[in-house]
Amino acid sequence: MFNNAEWPNLVRLYDHIGVEYVPVDLSKSYSFFGEKSFLNLDASYRPKLSLSLLSKNVRQISADADKMMSQVSDLPGVGNGLTLREYLNVNQFSDTFVFEFLYPSLSSTVCTCSYQALDNYPASLLLNSLAGIIGNDLSDSRSLMRTRFGSLDVARRLAKNVADIRFGTTVVSATVESNQVKIVFDNGERQSEASFDHLIVATQANQSSQFLPALTEVERNTLNSFQYENIETIIHTDESQMPADQSNWAHFNFVICPEASMCSVWMNRFNHDSPFDGNVFQTISPINDVADEQVLTRETLQRPIVNQASAKAWEAIASFHREPDRRIWFCGSYATSGVPLLESGLVSSLNVAEAIGIEIPELLSPSLV
Ligand SMILES: Cc1cc2nc3c(=O)[nH]c(=O)nc-3n(C[C@H](O)[C@H](O)[C@H](O)COP(=O)(O)OP(=O)(O)OC[C@H]3O[C@@H](n4cnc5c(N)ncnc54)[C@H](O)[C@@H]3O)c2cc1C
Repeated sequence: MFNNAEWPNLVRLYDHIGVEYVPVDLSKSYSFFGEKSFLNLDASYRPKLSLSLLSKNVRQISADADKMMSQVSDLPGVGNGLTLREYLNVNQFSDTFVFEFLYPSLSSTVCTCSYQALDNYPASLLLNSLAGIIGNDLSDSRSLMRTRFGSLDVARRLAKNVADIRFGTTVVSATVESNQVKIVFDNGERQSEASFDHLIVATQANQSSQFLPALTEVERNTLNSFQYENIETIIHTDESQMPADQSNWAHFNFVICPEASMCSVWMNRFNHDSPFDGNVFQTISPINDVADEQVLTRETLQRPIVNQASAKAWEAIASFHREPDRRIWFCGSYATSGVPLLESGLVSSLNVAEAIGIEIPELLSPSLV
């Protein structure tokens, strides 16, 4: 998902290459496992019912959410290097708000990470990004969208003018020799070699260091300083992962246990042209396992986590890219400032293009964010 406010380059790129996108129905439910939902929201983080009709906890969540969103830019604590946990403590946000709303929302959508990683997120960076995603107003620039025909359509459009694409091929080693980068490929059957003027490494940071034997110690330490967490994602038909009462089911369903939470996306609602007859869900970070016979597919993904050390690593990458005669470049959502999302991945590619001296189309710019 993306919007104009937080993903300005991505939206311009999609427009430029003809990717179609549609608004996402942002209905959300919040419930404890096996119970009815205690909060249902539309696009806004504000409940639909008037305050007097809401439970005490929901009134507290609503008041704290308003406080956070209205004061993101000037609350004491934001912008002065506090972690999210420190910021929440200093500003006395209630546990109800944090553990029944904020952390469930962030841990399975915006940041897709554990509560411990959320505690350590730089508050200023995360809250400013959050304001761009949900904000105070629901202007068009904040409406979240999704691509109409999925990532495969985007990949095909982006790759249209690329002459040589090798699928199912792993880069097993890359070394710099006489200002050329020698790559060894492995397609599962045989190994082959080729030399290039430049290598843009667009794998995760923790994968890059495995096939780059010639990294300097500083480069290796920098790449290794980016930490990743595993995210389990299951697509399944198990209705017990959803709120107990089907009339509470929303598009995004946050189910909470004391120490963690999960989000189940009701896929039949997410994709209007869903090919499934029965209900199908995508559960991110499932708390309870789903029986094999109800699983359609299961993937473990990884997402970089951001903490107080990230700024130093982002600056180190920028400084590597300023070195004269550089041949190996680092690109990806982890590699530049921000919550690691598609926009930061795209911005990091613009940074690399600028550093190599490739002309960037006028419509795109790292400074749009
Ligand atoms: C559950 C979940 C939901 C998300 N939702 C959103 C969202 O709504 N909006 C958003 O903006 N972002 C979202 N993200 C984040 C987004 O998906 C990532 O930021 C983005 O995919 C990162 O792109 P990347 O190009 O940096 O890295 P990747 O997508 O990880 O690409 C790296 C590629 O390198 C390949 N590779 C690795 N090693 C080698 C090798 N040796 N040789 C050849 N190839 C190799 C890998 O196979 C992989 O294809 C979500 C992430 C998760 C996990």
